[in-house]
Amino acid sequence: MKLSDFNIGQMYIRYYPDPILRQSAAPIEEIDSEVIALIDRMTDLMLEANGIGLAAIQLGVPLQAVTLSLTGKREDVEVFINPVLDGFEGLSEVEEGCLSLPGVRGVVRRPAICTVTSLDLEGNLFVTDMVELGATAIQHEVDHLQGKLFIDRLSTISRLACRKALKQLEQQYQQD
Ligand code: ZN
Repeated sequence: MKLSDFNIGQMYIRYYPDPILRQSAAPIEEIDSEVIALIDRMTDLMLEANGIGLAAIQLGVPLQAVTLSLTGKREDVEVFINPVLDGFEGLSEVEEGCLSLPGVRGVVRRPAICTVTSLDLEGNLFVTDMVELGATAIQHEVDHLQGKLFIDRLSTISRLACRKALKQLEQQYQQD
């Protein structure tokens, strides 16, 4: 996969059930100007859509890049290249949504704490502990890198509650 094959400025957020969302993302081997342009585009689209997290696969690019902004502000944007999670502890239940699933929300149970090991945009390795909303958000985004969506993790009751909204997205996708 070559990032130069993509028109980064034309990228938009892909919606469920676009099959690209089920692909696994590959590690980024070199943080070049195209990767930086991709991160810029992800940041713009995430903030425009009032999201707190976005994975590159949501723009149709199967590479391991994630942006987060837990406040929704540009100055708080964090970039994770090739993130790996471990150190899971505790459990929390948080109502999640996803920019690729507009109108769908549901409670997901995940570890309350995790540690992320990642590269930053300069290619430096960093390790950071994530708690509360940060832990939920990074786990949600790292799921995207493996082709997983939060709807895969819903309880039976939440899944039933989301059924209509999912059907609507499926019909919308057929029409587009
Ligand atoms: Zn998402």
